[in-house]
This record gives sequence, C-alpha cells and structure tokens, in this order.
Amino acid sequence: MSIQFNILTLFPDMFPGSLGQSLSGKALERRDWSYEAINIRDFAQGVHKNVDDTPYGGGAGMVMRADLIEKATLSIEKPGRKIYLSPRGTPLTQALVKELASTPALTLLCGRYEGVDQRVLDAQDFEEVSIGDYVLSGGEPAALILMDACIRLLPGVMGNETTPDEESFSNGLLEYPHYTRPDEWAAADGNVHKVPEILKSGDHAKIKAWREEEALKITKKRRPDLLK
Ligand code: SAM
Repeated sequence: MSIQFNILTLFPDMFPGSLGQSLSGKALERRDWSYEAINIRDFAQGVHKNVDDTPYGGGAGMVMRADLIEKATLSIEKPGRKIYLSPRGTPLTQALVKELASTPALTLLCGRYEGVDQRVLDAQDFEEVSIGDYVLSGGEPAALILMDACIRLLPGVMGNETTPDEESFSNGLLEYPHYTRPDEWAAADGNVHKVPEILKSGDHAKIKAWREEEALKITKKRRPDLLK
C-alpha cells in the first residue's frame, strides 16, 4: 500500500521538508509514499503572475483566486480525496488520519493570505481540515503535519519503533508514561528518581493493567474531553 500526495501550493520548495529525513525520508526513497508539489502560480498569466485579489465586501488582506486553483486541481491525474487545510475545518484527529492513510491519493490545498475563494472549494468539493485552534500563515506546515501523521501509519514505515495500537488516541486515551535505563536516576537537583517497580517485575499482565490505569489517570487529568 502506498500513498500519493498532490500538494497545491505557492511554495513548492517547502516539500518534502522534514519528511525527507529519518524514517519518512527512507519511506520516500522506497516509494512507500510519493508527492508532487504543484505551484499554483504556474497557472497564472501576465507579467506579474498574480494569484490573489482583493476581497469582495472589503477588509484586510488578499484572497487566492478560484480560477487558478481550479486549473491547478484539474491538472492532477488522480486527485483522490481533496482537502483544503483551513483553521475552520474539521479537526484532524487520529481517527481521521487512519482514514486518510488508507486512501491511495490525497490532494492538499495550502492557502495563503486570507484564504481562498469559497467558490472553488464548493465547485471542486474540497473538504476542510484543521490541525488545531490557531492560525498559521500558510497551509504548508499543516499539510506537512497531516502527511507525517499518515505516512507513519503506512505498513513498514515505522518498523519496530512503535505499536500504533497502544499510542495516544488509538483507544481514546493518552499514552501511559515510559521509562528506560538506568533504573535509578539522580537528577541535577540531587533527587533520585526510580522506575516504578511493577515495570521491572516481568509480570506482563500486571504491567498491562498498570499501563491502562496510568493511561486513564493521565487522560482524566489532561484531556477529560476524550473520555466523554
Ligand atoms: N483568514 C483565515 C481565517 O481566519 O480562518 C486564516 C488564513 S491563514 C492566515 C492562511 C492559510 O493558512 C489558510 O488559508 C490555511 O490554508 C492555512 N492555515 C492556517 N491555520 C491553519 C490551521 N489551524 N489548520 C490548517 N490550515 C491552516
């Protein structure tokens, strides 16, 4: 299973960015995933190749033009699911990531300025997805985050480095705490911190139960909304 990302952007050089490194970089070399960054400006005409214009109704900022985004979108052979990264979109959750990671192709539209003309979102059936309740200056970092979250779920990408079923959000909880050697660690303030005894017991059933309890505790404390 592999996934093709088609990225509609004014800044194609931002890709693959950090995804060209580490495990996602190796997966890219293996072609477990691939991408094409399509420069929306290439579809503009005239000396200035303008991609934006002033907003109807007035107000600050500029709006990306519908006609150019449509042309850029139609140039994609297999667009798959079309997503506009947007702060007003559906929140990107692990459940949505799992769904997206199992599709063969995704088209990711990265906005700039005040955003894009609503008409092309409607005409081309773009879904809107947000990476959180804050405003970025452009959709590219949001696209990279969405891509990262999908790529690491592709078979073979993470190797033995993770167990997706036990990670935060996979079962509706945050993850339990981790510890590694040494089992007694003296911090700079002189306090000695020990690894919980149960984790050294070798009793897998008890360790599992302890981890479940810790996951529940931390979720209740930090993200009670996940338990609703
Ligand atoms: N005027 C827009 C608003 O208030 O909703 C914000 C536009 S923002 C400055 C420019 C672009 O960054 C957006 O078109 C979108 O593609 C991207 N962006 C900003 N915040 C985002 C978020 N939380 N999730 C996904 N994309 C985001």
